[in-house]
Amino acid sequence: MNLAGARRRGAHFSVKILLLWDIDGTLISSGGAGMSALERALGDVFGVAGSLDDIDFAGRTDRWIVRRVFAKYGLPVTEENFGRYLDGYLAALPAQLANPRAKVLPGVRAILAAAAARADVAQGLLTGNLARGARVKLAHHGLWDYFPFGAFADDGELRNDLGPHAVRRAREHHGVEFAPGCVWVIGDTPHDIACGRVIGARTLAVTTGGYAAKALAAHAPTALLADLADPAAFWEAIDG
Ligand SMILES: [Mg+2]
Repeated sequence: MNLAGARRRGAHFSVKILLLWDIDGTLISSGGAGMSALERALGDVFGVAGSLDDIDFAGRTDRWIVRRVFAKYGLPVTEENFGRYLDGYLAALPAQLANPRAKVLPGVRAILAAAAARADVAQGLLTGNLARGARVKLAHHGLWDYFPFGAFADDGELRNDLGPHAVRRAREHHGVEFAPGCVWVIGDTPHDIACGRVIGARTLAVTTGGYAAKALAAHAPTALLADLADPAAFWEAIDG
């Protein structure tokens, strides 16, 4: 092989590790913006004033959550209502994100920047957010541009169905196959761990969402960190 070919070949095979990130409770805390935007939209779209704090959002997809909202308030489960409600949610979201508790979680900026600088690391999203909602949440903190691809609630209502979409888009974007053992699903709930296991990925769980270490450990993630505040600990888990 000539040098140019070797370079191409080297470049082609240089990306090996795929990081698939959850958003809420992992990269950012929205300070309750997601729930308050859904509550706001419930009033704006359906004229219903009600609380959603008895619905367990964590680790679920937006469509899964909306189905529970419709059940709670007796609203017809139609595609039209899904569309109207999710549009209302997305319209309400920016104002709700502008709250003082919305923040990027510790260490996240440093890890994302370091991952972007590594030729052997690719990163995308694996999130229950709609793609449009993910963009609003991450762009609010200047993080959206780190993620050229992802899997979202638009791809399926069940989180366990999303992994294959993320891996396929990673393959299409980078032009390489990622071995399952080199794929990491990073999240803050048992649902993240489960959806990583479905695709044979390794899983890294963090306790920066609602779940304690003991609850996450019961689901046997590959690695478990209290938070991402120490980038060295994160890379030690990933690189071994
Ligand atoms: Mg989460």
